[in-house]
Amino acid sequence: MEETRRGRGSRAVVLGAGIGGLVAARVLADTFDEVTIVERDVMPGGGHGRRGVPQGRHVHGMQAGGLPLLEELFPGLRAELAGDGAHEIADLSRVSLRFAGRLLNQAELPVAPVLSVSRPHLEWRIRERVRRLSGVRVAEGLEAVGVTSTVDGDRARVTGVRVAPAATRDAKERTIDADLVVDATGRGSRMPVWLEQLGCARPDEERVVVHIGYASQTFRLPRDSYPQDLIIEGRAPGRRHGFGAFACEQDRWTFSIMSYGAGERPPTEPEERMRLMHQMAPPWLAEALSAAEPLDDVARHAHPTSHWRHYERLGRLPVGLLAFGDAIAAFNPIYGTGMTVALKQGVALRTALETTTDTELPRRFYRAAARPLSAAWALSTGADLAYPETLGKRTRRGALMGRYVARFLAAAEHDPVLARRFLAVAGLVEAPSALLAPAAVAKVVRSPAPTALSLPERARSDVAHAPRETAAS
Ligand SMILES: Cc1cc2nc3c(=O)[nH]c(=O)nc-3n(C[C@H](O)[C@H](O)[C@H](O)COP(=O)(O)OP(=O)(O)OC[C@H]3O[C@@H](n4cnc5c(N)ncnc54)[C@H](O)[C@@H]3O)c2cc1C
Repeated sequence: MEETRRGRGSRAVVLGAGIGGLVAARVLADTFDEVTIVERDVMPGGGHGRRGVPQGRHVHGMQAGGLPLLEELFPGLRAELAGDGAHEIADLSRVSLRFAGRLLNQAELPVAPVLSVSRPHLEWRIRERVRRLSGVRVAEGLEAVGVTSTVDGDRARVTGVRVAPAATRDAKERTIDADLVVDATGRGSRMPVWLEQLGCARPDEERVVVHIGYASQTFRLPRDSYPQDLIIEGRAPGRRHGFGAFACEQDRWTFSIMSYGAGERPPTEPEERMRLMHQMAPPWLAEALSAAEPLDDVARHAHPTSHWRHYERLGRLPVGLLAFGDAIAAFNPIYGTGMTVALKQGVALRTALETTTDTELPRRFYRAAARPLSAAWALSTGADLAYPETLGKRTRRGALMGRYVARFLAAAEHDPVLARRFLAVAGLVEAPSALLAPAAVAKVVRSPAPTALSLPERARSDVAHAPRETAAS
């Protein structure tokens, strides 16, 4: 029996027009005649931020593992973004990255390029591409409130989505019929509730409590006035703050101060922000930012927990319904992997659509999507759980790996090849197991015993509690 309903007259609905939803829509447009993206926000023109994507105001970069996929799905987009003034950074010397108190080597050495562009600009450029695809439309200002279904053998089959105008309370709902509904509504996704309503179990959910705060602002710095394009002072043992400063399009720089730990909040007052910058940032950047005009107010964002909803473990799934992007898993944003994972999920969805029937699609997709998810999850939670204040499930293997990564990072301060290898893994170009390649292990083992953390001297006053040797140190 022909189980697929794709083909002539087939319809898909994607909920949410963030990067996840746009990637899903791009892939679905190859298979479905009509793809409707239902988005709660009314879209701003150009690369402006919007309410539904509050993370858009904060530092955002596309990892090296995502960039080729972005180009594969949207040919020519990289050149278009470069023309807008976005930065592709392809040399170690153009970045200053300190992780767990270790500054990666800054030798002139080519690395797989990462993309630095503001999140609203990137989303806008992708959205415009998706809008131009045949059969795709974006239904703005509409909130998805539930799904409709029928019974198909022993399983539920989703037949559409119930929507209501987002701006008007108690407005009348209507239904958009669909053969496939993809929920890309982000970390607030109501998919677990919908599954229960459809007679299925909720997925197991792993959570790691990290309490990361962001406070960010945009500045304009004259082009070519700076030696580097992307600076991250990441989390380090005993430190309450870190920062990220990313060169973006049109000579804009996004500058975020991050706070770590429950009860900590990153400062919004200009004096305190500049004080921290002078403590933590390379002097050229602190000076440039002190002299630059801010282009907007400081925006705050809190990321209390990372989560992974394990849909791939569910035995019974309804036909015609998928979760996608942050609706499945959202990682600690300081590792910058969410958009790359969404692109990898896009590839997994494309393969699943090409190779399976509708009935098998959910299982096939979730299993394939779990592979890139588990790499990103291991990296993000492995690094976070090295800090005693992080709450989550710890394993002996994780602790051993944490100690090895700490040695690796200490060695990568002096060894550009190890620094490049670390970036390739952090950027999801290579699997975490690449850190354990024989040549890398040999170098790490032979490297001198790690010295004290190389935190900027000036940052000594930013101490949450006495620095002590943790698995990350
Ligand atoms: C502070 C911060 C910094 C980050 N930095 C990076 C980074 O540097 N690099 C990186 O790769 N990733 C980063 N991320 C993660 C990245 O933003 C996401 O992983 C990625 O954009 C995928 O998100 P999404 O599209 O699945 O969900 P979202 O971006 O949350 O989009 C969900 C969309 O659904 C809409 N919506 C919600 N509910 C409904 C509803 N009921 N009906 C209709 N529409 C609805 C929302 O309006 C929104 O448009 C960061 C995240 C944060 C919080």
